[in-house]
Amino acid sequence: MALNLEQSTSLIVERARQLMNQLIEQRGHGRPPFLSKEYAPLLGIKRIEKADLGQVSAILIKLHDGDVIRVNQMHNLARQNFSCAHEIGHALLSELNLELCIEEAEFRTFNPQAEAMAGAKTRERLCDAAATELLMPEIVFKKYLSSLGACINSIESLANIFRVSISSTAIRIAELSAEPCIVLLWRQRPGTKSKVLRLAWRVGPGKKSKGKADYMPVHTLARHTSTLYKAYQYDNPVKCHKSFEIDGSVKRLPIESKGFGSGEMRYVISLAFPNR
Ligand SMILES: [Zn+2]
Repeated sequence: MALNLEQSTSLIVERARQLMNQLIEQRGHGRPPFLSKEYAPLLGIKRIEKADLGQVSAILIKLHDGDVIRVNQMHNLARQNFSCAHEIGHALLSELNLELCIEEAEFRTFNPQAEAMAGAKTRERLCDAAATELLMPEIVFKKYLSSLGACINSIESLANIFRVSISSTAIRIAELSAEPCIVLLWRQRPGTKSKVLRLAWRVGPGKKSKGKADYMPVHTLARHTSTLYKAYQYDNPVKCHKSFEIDGSVKRLPIESKGFGSGEMRYVISLAFPNR
């Protein structure tokens, strides 16, 4: 059986939803947070152990009497929660026998090494999709998002409610917001002291799929004189406009930005609204 990426994604997300429903039934309520340690036993994962893993976020260890997840104790709890959910994603992947289907369908090239690498990358993306649905179930997240509103100040509240990182929350907002919304992340180039922010990544609007409008900011650098840079310097959110390229033309969109983290890890998240 050969499946493309879209089909495999919907299969694994569907399985994640079943797991969520099972958890809700078991505990008798559907209120967030949804934690990896609550899901683990449902898949026969015996325990989650904190360990010194160096650069690795988490690993799933298969033992004959059940699996164990080992998670990097140096990471913050929100990240640990996501890393463990990602490993649960790996358990779902092998349970659904998706690993082989992916390689067969997507990566028939004449370079076995490139094939293996592309397959690995796709597997990681599928596990992230499963983790996202487990920790921020679409139906529950949408409810909280619509009551808080898609705005820059909702990110931190939602991250606290769902016990996930600021950036995972922002991406989920871009995916699920009823009003189209693009999320952008800016940071200084590592190792430089230059007072310039550069665009690290952007997501949205809507779920990643073919044929969706793709907004790209015309300027992917923000200098120290810009309003955006103020979000980096101070903790208050800022509002401004930015030009985006869309289908060959340029459109000015309102954006809201806020800085998070400190020191070298400091970054700015922006939300842009194409329909405002
Ligand atoms: Zn992985």
